[in-house]
Amino acid sequence: MTLAASLAPGAETPHAPSKQKSSVSRVSSIDTLVTAGWVVTMDGSDRVFSPGAVAISKGGIVAVGTPSELLSVYSPKQKISRPHSVVLPGLINTHTHAAMSLFRGIADDLPLMEWLTRFIFPAEGKNVSPAFVKAGTTLACLEMIRGGTTTFADMYYFESDVAEAVDACGLRAVLGETWLDFPVPDHKDLAESITVTRAFLEKWKGHPRVVAAVAPHAPYTNAKESLLAARDLALEFKAPLLIHLSETKDEQKQIAEKHGMTPTKWLESIGFLGPSVLAAHGVWLDADDIRLLAERHVGLAHNPESNMKLASGIAPVVAARKAGIAVGLGTDGVAGSNNDHDMWEAMDFAGKLAKVSSGDPTVLPARDLLRMATIEAARAMKLDDRIGSLETGKRADLVAVDLSGPRTQPLWDVFSTLVYAVKQEDVCLTMVEGRVLWDGRTVRTVDAAKTLCEAEEWRSRIAASLKGTIAK
Ligand SMILES: [Zn+2]
Repeated sequence: MTLAASLAPGAETPHAPSKQKSSVSRVSSIDTLVTAGWVVTMDGSDRVFSPGAVAISKGGIVAVGTPSELLSVYSPKQKISRPHSVVLPGLINTHTHAAMSLFRGIADDLPLMEWLTRFIFPAEGKNVSPAFVKAGTTLACLEMIRGGTTTFADMYYFESDVAEAVDACGLRAVLGETWLDFPVPDHKDLAESITVTRAFLEKWKGHPRVVAAVAPHAPYTNAKESLLAARDLALEFKAPLLIHLSETKDEQKQIAEKHGMTPTKWLESIGFLGPSVLAAHGVWLDADDIRLLAERHVGLAHNPESNMKLASGIAPVVAARKAGIAVGLGTDGVAGSNNDHDMWEAMDFAGKLAKVSSGDPTVLPARDLLRMATIEAARAMKLDDRIGSLETGKRADLVAVDLSGPRTQPLWDVFSTLVYAVKQEDVCLTMVEGRVLWDGRTVRTVDAAKTLCEAEEWRSRIAASLKGTIAK
């Protein structure tokens, strides 16, 4: 194929042999047909259609194929055309603390423990409320919608209020009500943690986009009693269990002194690990830990930027994936450990960190990195029956990225361009459950001006509450 041919939407790409047929069923009327220069499916065969189309009805994907193929079978009520764009599954952020967006930049360039104890815990103690988490989560959702993230996993407080903000924004999320063995803004002890979280799980049970979860913070902040109570509650509701695991060397040391083993082995020894667990970080996992997590089907959330910024270390994600662990990518919270929710950067950093640390530029190639932000992230979160790829029967969560700008031309390989060149600003369509949230001009579900104004008001309020303790 010539270079010119590879540039033109409509040309056959190396990933889209013209003989490739999609499977289409006999339905005539559909809600929406999205057509684009390229459709990257992230299905089991990594199929790419160029040009491509996705047929959508009742929030689900009816078929994926070429526009001519689908138009011969379906009559759409609405057509969305993005000829210069690539359509792909919405990105999945497997670890963040969305409401902490209001603390973005409050304190940077510090060790994790100092950052937490000197800044974050006092700021949270004085400010976190239902109104705070709604404003912070809405700000995060606004950023994620514009940047092409359609699903995120969250760990914070007042998660039922977080859920209301997520629901109003139209995104999909797994929301973990966070427990620590000391009082947090919405519950003061274990009994109250259980009561509050039970009510949260009951309220959001069966919601099409919000999955309520239980989130004991970490092995170094939660004793056996609260970890097992969290596990039991999650099992009772068939809910996910979110936790930070082996993030820092200091955590390894603390757990070794206390229990004589690694955090993973200790969690295994108390019966905590299982398929519902999504563990964030895993920076200090050893070979036995990796084997244990694979055996227990634990999903892993890899946060390269947070691990770099806090100098936590380099997670052994290549070994973890080789062992069969589903590894998704995450940003972590934006208060000081990132400081944004940009999943394009998460892919880019994950790849470059793995390459430079191993001295091997062939590890984590672009396709694998895109998997880790889509289908593999969905597997890590046990949502791969619903999201993560563009396939018949899955929910219609997708994004379009404009490739016509100088940053993304010329196009040699669509996976390379998506992972190494695209930025959040290139996203021109974000759709969840077949509903357009961002059309390239307007976020339809969030009042952007009001959200930004509220963020500024919160900044002033937080600064006033910390006067004399934080010099900002
Ligand atoms: Zn975190």
